[in-house]
Amino acid sequence: MTLQTDVAVVGYGPTGAVLSHALASYGWTVAAFDREPEVIGLPRAVHFDAEVMRVFQQLRMADEVLPTTIPVRGMEMLNAQGEMIFCYDAPQDVGPLGWQGGFMFNQPELERTLRKKASTYPSLQVHLGTSVRDIRDEANGMVLQQDNGPGSRTTRARFVVGCDGGQSTVRAILSDKMFDYGEHRTWLVVDVLVEKDAGLPRVTVQYCDPARPATFVPLPGRRRRFEIMLMPGDTAESITAPGRVTDLLSRWLPPSSYSVERCAAYTFHCLVADRWRRGGLLIAGDAAHQMPPFLGQGLCSGIRDAMNLSWKLDLILRGVASTSLLDSYQDEREAHVRHLIEVDIELGNIIQTTDPAVAAQRDSAARASGAPTMLANFVPEIGGKLCVGTDYARRPFPQPRCPNGQRHDELLGGGFALVGAVEPSRWATQVLHQLGGHHVRTVHPQVRDWLDEADAEAAIVRPDRIVLGLAKNADDLDDVLTPLASHLTPC
Ligand SMILES: Cc1cc2nc3c(=O)[nH]c(=O)nc-3n(C[C@H](O)[C@H](O)[C@H](O)COP(=O)(O)OP(=O)(O)OC[C@H]3O[C@@H](n4cnc5c(N)ncnc54)[C@H](O)[C@@H]3O)c2cc1C
Repeated sequence: MTLQTDVAVVGYGPTGAVLSHALASYGWTVAAFDREPEVIGLPRAVHFDAEVMRVFQQLRMADEVLPTTIPVRGMEMLNAQGEMIFCYDAPQDVGPLGWQGGFMFNQPELERTLRKKASTYPSLQVHLGTSVRDIRDEANGMVLQQDNGPGSRTTRARFVVGCDGGQSTVRAILSDKMFDYGEHRTWLVVDVLVEKDAGLPRVTVQYCDPARPATFVPLPGRRRRFEIMLMPGDTAESITAPGRVTDLLSRWLPPSSYSVERCAAYTFHCLVADRWRRGGLLIAGDAAHQMPPFLGQGLCSGIRDAMNLSWKLDLILRGVASTSLLDSYQDEREAHVRHLIEVDIELGNIIQTTDPAVAAQRDSAARASGAPTMLANFVPEIGGKLCVGTDYARRPFPQPRCPNGQRHDELLGGGFALVGAVEPSRWATQVLHQLGGHHVRTVHPQVRDWLDEADAEAAIVRPDRIVLGLAKNADDLDDVLTPLASHLTPC
């Protein structure tokens, strides 16, 4: 039996679920496959940022997600003597994207919420306990071969997106070459449920102790996370043994004050796949890139991939754009991901050093400055040729609150928006019409300030809330739309 669908999504983790959800919300038929019958219960992501909460807002699920999170409170990095050498003070106010800067959460719980919300779309069919083992590119679409117990079925789809994680089958079919930054460290990760708070820190603490680097992370409710680096002589088996875990945690908690919910040893890698697309076959999320968890950006990056792809696939499936638009996907997302990986490696080098001499040098440099170095927020740009300009373009558009309490994105709608008082040329009006965009002429005072800072009168905002470009006049608007328009089909 062959199933027909617009898009097949292989892997229904956070990346696959967000992509499926977004595509189904555009009205496309989506078949999502996951080899596991349930969400993966391992201790994995605990942090996502404001941009990701904005995606949940866009997918109409922020109200369900928010109560399961706590805002990020900050981070302290301590040396072996307990002196603070670096810190990050997380602002507690709502930031420029309409949400607090970051949230702590529990990945399996978030995935269940995502799945529940996505199940309200009749055009999305989810096949759990179903492994995809082969994909063929045929003249009239991609054909997937899947295994679900005794039977084997096929699915025909116009596009297939592999969101099937670090060991991706789809990546292996596409091209298994990956760029390896050469960072491979193994850590024990333990989630515990505490009886009461037991005096644990309120912020994330990185113990930059060369004898045994470790991390503590406060999480919502009674859950707390400990991450402990493996040292010479440790093995994944020996360190996950219950007695050994109790031993290692005794530095923070007496054994009677908590229960271990789950623990695992992971080797973190910094990898970027060489090729993210061939024709209608694509990869996203951990299938395309992997990074250590110091910045808490692996899942966030997968969700950004999904939102980048969803509007492009929508335009192509609608016949508005040609498949060449997908050439921009890897260019845009790879630049962003590489920037994050490179900062993650720098942070990891501070935390993970096991050389006492290097640690002593690090500590004396920190002491010399008299106070702990404050870590600053940074927002990477996306790459590629679709967006015009840098600094303000290629980054998320601000999201203030409107006087009626609405968040500004609700005013912009889900598609393209031209925000500002510049009147577009006839050609630009036609392009915006073809894209399904609309013109918001009344500029919110905070958006006005942002435009002034950028020395612009108007901005074009993409459906993934990234700024396509800025304009002072109609000619600039034509310039901003030209690269995107080159992928649109003639009207
Ligand atoms: C200890 C740890 C801490 C982390 N902390 C953070 C953090 O704080 N913030 C953050 O943003 N990220 C963090 N991450 C990273 C984050 O967990 C991953 O980036 C995220 O899970 C990737 O999502 P994904 O959907 O791309 O892949 P996955 O979550 O791996 O999902 C892939 C899915 O594909 C399915 N699958 C695989 N092969 C097939 C097949 N052939 N057919 C069908 N289905 C298949 C799998 O069953 C799985 O459900 C952390 C990771 C770890 C390990």
